[in-house]
Amino acid sequence: MAQSAPQTAAVSPVVLARYEPVIGLEVHAQLQTKTKIFCGCSTRFGDAPNSNVCPVCLGLPGTLPVLNKRVVEMAVRASLALNCTVHEHSRFARKNYFYPDLPKGYQISQYELPLATGGWLEIAHDATCKRIGITRLHLEEDAAKNLHEGFAESAEKGYIDFNRCGTPLTEIVSEPDMRAPEEAHAYLTALKEILLYTGVSDCNMEEGSLRCDANVSVRLRGASEFGTKVEIKNLNSFRFVQKAIEYEIERQIGVLEGGGRIAQESRLWNQAENHTVSMRSKEKAHDYRYFPEPDLLPVHVSAGWRAAATKGLPELPEAKRLRFVNTYGITPYDAEVLTGSQSLADYFESVVKAGAPGKSAANWMQTELLRRLKHAGKDIVASPVSPAALAELLQLVESGNITGAIGKKVFPIMFDSGRAAGEIVAAEGLAQSSDTSAIEAIAREVIEKNPDNVAKFKSGNEGVFKFFVGQVIRATRGQANPQVVNDVLRKLLS
Ligand code: ADP
Ligand code: MG
Ligand code: ZN
Repeated sequence: MAQSAPQTAAVSPVVLARYEPVIGLEVHAQLQTKTKIFCGCSTRFGDAPNSNVCPVCLGLPGTLPVLNKRVVEMAVRASLALNCTVHEHSRFARKNYFYPDLPKGYQISQYELPLATGGWLEIAHDATCKRIGITRLHLEEDAAKNLHEGFAESAEKGYIDFNRCGTPLTEIVSEPDMRAPEEAHAYLTALKEILLYTGVSDCNMEEGSLRCDANVSVRLRGASEFGTKVEIKNLNSFRFVQKAIEYEIERQIGVLEGGGRIAQESRLWNQAENHTVSMRSKEKAHDYRYFPEPDLLPVHVSAGWRAAATKGLPELPEAKRLRFVNTYGITPYDAEVLTGSQSLADYFESVVKAGAPGKSAANWMQTELLRRLKHAGKDIVASPVSPAALAELLQLVESGNITGAIGKKVFPIMFDSGRAAGEIVAAEGLAQSSDTSAIEAIAREVIEKNPDNVAKFKSGNEGVFKFFVGQVIRATRGQANPQVVNDVLRKLLS
């Protein structure tokens, strides 16, 4: 690809193919709580700057943090949904560094004893399933937000909004198990789905509820050791994650092919210019002078609490997909689309429960309903066609009361007017016609008007039969029963 970045010569596809990328992701997700992690301030987004602050989250001397139980509950849910081992005892630690958005001079995080470790999630990529390991999941507080007047670097004035300071986060660290930018994208998609299903985070990327650091290295295919990794910080869209990784893979291969070495560093994604830029050499853990947080007790998650959390978990996306395929006979692809969100999955199941066959419910939802909702900018929960209303339409089609073609005409009327399918069919006289003599009259007319095609058919061109069927059905405005049309034409043409 042509990149406008400095120091990056284009690398040929042949050279690219000799290397294998290795990717591990660190995701920060904001936990869905009303109040902050160590104080009672609101976590509401969009309030006036510095309106949701108190001595604790401002880091004033002499204040003490008190752990919000709901934060632990949310993180335990996430851990269990990600197949992690939730440790009975974990501990907060101080991560020391100086930055204007960090008033205490340290961040309260977890370090050697995180809340949970050793999990995995499943991604679908290239029609196969792959398990990506989750190294750890821990709790931490967010920092404040720096605001700049003018362009970030040359800003005249900087402001700090402490509303964000003390927002509860979970950091979810993956194993370096991904081998392609698309796998990173699939991992994030799967992770977001799980966090949404479990209600752990709203995953709103525009509001910063989900942020990702991507770690990337490359090695010659077949090599057993990993290469030196580079960390790309603070990516706030899945697309940027994928693009930044794609760029970084090529940059690193370019450096290695040029005889250089990869510096272990943190880089930033420059979205406007489509390349990564060096931010700083990567700090090591010892730079942070981690030590156990003396102001907080260890976190204790009892076996009872864990069991209750397990019981409270909803059916997760992967399990739902499997069940949909097995119970409703829909394809894995359909199941993937229909479990994209819990409300979409619920809608689908309601349509089936109201009497529609699974396959046609899946088809009609994807072709007719989702397309129209997208066009109207509406979410499935605001669908003007209820599951029961869609089921009624599908039953009319299924029972042969109306043809599929008519159904496709009825659906948009339902969508726009909110009227029921049966009512529209009756009012517009759209019911399917199996009236053989009426269909025969139309068929004769079509045959009469197309002597050339009749000749073709008689000389063995079976393909033109479809033409006749199409013409007759069109002449009945889609109402003729296709089977009757077929029978009538066979009789007349033979
Ligand atoms: P650090 O201490 O530098 O933060 P970690 O071992 O905690 O490094 O790993 C951070 C992230 O980097 C994890 O998601 C991990 O999977 C990933 N990672 C580790 N080594 C590599 C590597 N060689 N290439 C790509 N990603 C890696
Ligand atoms: Mg790390
Ligand atoms: Zn506060």
